[in-house]
Amino acid sequence: MTNRKPDYDAVIVGAGFGGMGAGIELKRQGLTDLAILEREDDLGGTWHVNHYPGLAVDIASVTYSYSFAPNPYWSRLFAPGAELKKYAEHIADQYDLRRHMEFGTAVQRAEWDDDDHLWTVYTDDGGSRTTRYLVTATGFLSQPHTPDFPGIDTFAGDIIHTTDWQDGYDFTGKRAAVIGTGATAVQLIPEIARDADALTVFQRTPIWVVPKVDFPIPAPVQNLFAKVPLTQKAARLVNTSLLEALMVFGVLHFKQTKPGNKMAALLAKAHLRAQVRDAGTRRKLTPAYDFGCKRPTFSNEYFRVFNRPNVTLQTSSIARVEPDGIVTDDGHKTMIDTLVLATGFNLWDTNFPAFQIIGREGRDLGPWWREGRFQAYEGITVPKMPNLLSLNSPYSYSGLSYFTTIEGQMRHIARLFGELRRRKADTFEVTEEANTEFLDRSTHALDSSVFYAGDCSGSRSYYFNQHGEATLLRPSSTRSTLREMETFPLDDYTYA
Ligand code: NAP
Repeated sequence: MTNRKPDYDAVIVGAGFGGMGAGIELKRQGLTDLAILEREDDLGGTWHVNHYPGLAVDIASVTYSYSFAPNPYWSRLFAPGAELKKYAEHIADQYDLRRHMEFGTAVQRAEWDDDDHLWTVYTDDGGSRTTRYLVTATGFLSQPHTPDFPGIDTFAGDIIHTTDWQDGYDFTGKRAAVIGTGATAVQLIPEIARDADALTVFQRTPIWVVPKVDFPIPAPVQNLFAKVPLTQKAARLVNTSLLEALMVFGVLHFKQTKPGNKMAALLAKAHLRAQVRDAGTRRKLTPAYDFGCKRPTFSNEYFRVFNRPNVTLQTSSIARVEPDGIVTDDGHKTMIDTLVLATGFNLWDTNFPAFQIIGREGRDLGPWWREGRFQAYEGITVPKMPNLLSLNSPYSYSGLSYFTTIEGQMRHIARLFGELRRRKADTFEVTEEANTEFLDRSTHALDSSVFYAGDCSGSRSYYFNQHGEATLLRPSSTRSTLREMETFPLDDYTYA
């Protein structure tokens, strides 16, 4: 135990669903002095930042929500983005989290003080605060990636990154380009195609797209969910089990269950054949890597767009941007008025971690991960980083609903803080041995996955880091992850 009292029991960085989940759990553990620091001007994380047209969840809403705070009133099976933002606001109110939140506060650096057993957190306004526990909940997909295309600064029209959408932007009468064909582009492109005079989609790597079974949830069903919560629980269980089967058999146990994975690819190909008339376009839209190497997506609208006379699929590489258009390697110039960057996020260079974190004996987390191997015990704690809960760590993401990840981490926090209380301690640190054992086990488990046993060579998937290791997803089923989070050996940590 230490004497110096920090400003806060815990500082949580990020007011999205991860940060709010951590806040809820820490309050349950009896911590009262919390600060939730958020660089944006409101809560909701990805669902505050993203509001491009067409935005919706791509995991059914009965599953994409906290299991302990179901919302019976989702309007559709796959709710639109605005409903997620509302749900985030509701959670903040229901769990009295708002009073802990400080917006427009970006954390630059955090440093562990080994004498007083506390973290000092430095913010970009020049301020600093001390805290016993530091929780980073900065998201995986939170540092927008803007490629450095030659000449992009000279473009005379509007440039819009999907994370910085100009609400109400009117594409009528405009010649637009969308660069990127990830999950974001798949949702956005049909919306732009409807209004723009001309739309050119610049695709570097095609994405696997499967049909989306989506429909409005009628009011009587919503009322039933509200009156008999067990019915919504059952719907959640069915949906989660289906997703789980896809993940476990299609992705994680690819080696043993290849036919399941191939079936998914066949379904996506049949979907493409049914929706796109031109064989050449279909060929260009067909991925050459195995299903699951990068996150597949769902859409009934995306492929159809390429039948429209105002839409062109461009697969030549972008050579440069000029004031009035984009020139590709084949010398062709596409004249455009508006350039939309659906170019995703940088994970491995700038986001692991999202700000500098210096632990015991000067261990600097970012360089330590990059120069060595990306690793975190149970995807949440790191040796020589006492009292740090790093929610968006290597091997933390379940690959399914983000809520599966955060709820597992909440269980881990509960067990850890229970032990701190039992020992009357205030400091925890994971041992090097436990961390290495978890890393070895995860690396070994991935051998059977599509990432290593399949062909992911041309996928350019953000599941892989710069060393070619697939260190984002936790290679275990949801059930075993949740079990492990509440039964991990307590002596995997030291306490003081
Ligand atoms: P993304 O999947 O990383 O896609 C980025 C796209 O930009 C890719 O097609 C990429 O091509 C392209 N790109 C990047 N740099 C480029 C360059 N220099 N030249 C040409 N093309 C370039 O990002 P995202 O679409 O924003 O989606 C990220 C994740 O967010 C998704 O996987 C999903 O997990 C999540 N998401 C969820 C929802 C939802 O739940 N509703 C919606 C949207 C997104 P390459 O593939 O060749 O790199």
